Amino acid sequence: MANRDYYDVLGISKTDTDEDIRKAFRKKAMEYHPDRNKNSDAEAKFKEINEAYQVLSDPNKRAQYNRFGAAGVGSNGGDRPFEGFDVFGGFGDIFDSFFGDATGRRTREAQRGSDIQQNVVLTFEESVFGAEREVEINRLEKCQKCSGQGNEPGTPINTCATCRGNGQVRRAQRSVFGQFTQVTACAACQGRGSTIVTPCQTCRGGGLERRQRKISVRIPAGVEAGMQVRLSGEGEAGQDGGSTGNLYVYVDVRAHEFFQRDDSDLIYEMPITYAEAVLGTEKEVPTLDSNEPIRILKIPQGTQHGAEFRIKDKGIPHIHSNRRGDLRVVVDLQVPRKLNEEQRQALEAFAQTLSSGIGVKDAGGSGSQSDDSNPGSDGQNQNGQPGSGHSKDDDKGLFNRIKDVLG
Ligand SMILES: [Zn+2]
Ligand SMILES: [Zn+2]
Repeated sequence: MANRDYYDVLGISKTDTDEDIRKAFRKKAMEYHPDRNKNSDAEAKFKEINEAYQVLSDPNKRAQYNRFGAAGVGSNGGDRPFEGFDVFGGFGDIFDSFFGDATGRRTREAQRGSDIQQNVVLTFEESVFGAEREVEINRLEKCQKCSGQGNEPGTPINTCATCRGNGQVRRAQRSVFGQFTQVTACAACQGRGSTIVTPCQTCRGGGLERRQRKISVRIPAGVEAGMQVRLSGEGEAGQDGGSTGNLYVYVDVRAHEFFQRDDSDLIYEMPITYAEAVLGTEKEVPTLDSNEPIRILKIPQGTQHGAEFRIKDKGIPHIHSNRRGDLRVVVDLQVPRKLNEEQRQALEAFAQTLSSGIGVKDAGGSGSQSDDSNPGSDGQNQNGQPGSGHSKDDDKGLFNRIKDVLG
């Protein structure tokens, strides 16, 4: 019945207003109420009408239903059917009682167990490669001694004499709609339908007991701070046949000494000296992979501050696939705060070559040989000191001296 179109059930169209829906529902509910309509399918019809009304009278649910159908509103055939009695105004009480009856349910409802939250703190490496953790929780479980029945083992559970096991008692009641049957929870058994002669000593008849548990949690590779892992059915036990809650494990991640995370990429800020940036060098880059803890990275001459080098597939695994991000190496140019006398002189000599316009085009690079073979053709010496005899090789020697003194 859950599959029938809700608009058809109420005999209305998609464009009808809330007021139209309300009127249609009242009319249909009157017509099919099982206490008034003795046809064998009346009760089923009545439930169907209610289900349709629950959805279409709620603007959010109605919008969901229009877009996605019954699945969009989590329709489950009237599991939580009767809310929103306000439409009946002063008749609320009467309808309350006959709706309760129409469902044919017991008044005592199964209660789902609570969810439990726990936190774990992972190292950065654990978040990248995954981890196995034990969390300790204290939760309500079904009493082991009585298997949740509530009676001391070996003692009887009797059918309630008052309600004969129904869990509810009926009472005829007159109203403006005629005579209705009012149904309430049986007071003698609190709606259980049965009575326990001798309550279980462990749970005092409640059927539940608290237990300390260690639960093992597998945390997937690539997890990020703020994510949670759900362990279905590891929460607290439900009551009166209700399902068990879930355990949610929230993940926090410690910062790493020198790696940072950007989505699935690792970021490594690599300090290099001025001389290394100018002349080029080879640097050791740490990775998180134990089979390759160090990667040698070639830094070309003339590398600028903030330049980025990408090492493929050395980043963080995507949480739902085997793919990995990259390791991005970002150049952090270190400018020395203090110089000794030798360093200062070397830099001053270098600065003079800059102000004299010598050697600025290509700092000792691979192109220097062709420059040398065509002296005067590249214009480098035109503004230079006459007769100083500066050449590329001299510049290169100066850079190397700077490199030597600056490290
Ligand atoms: Zn027990
Ligand atoms: Zn009873």
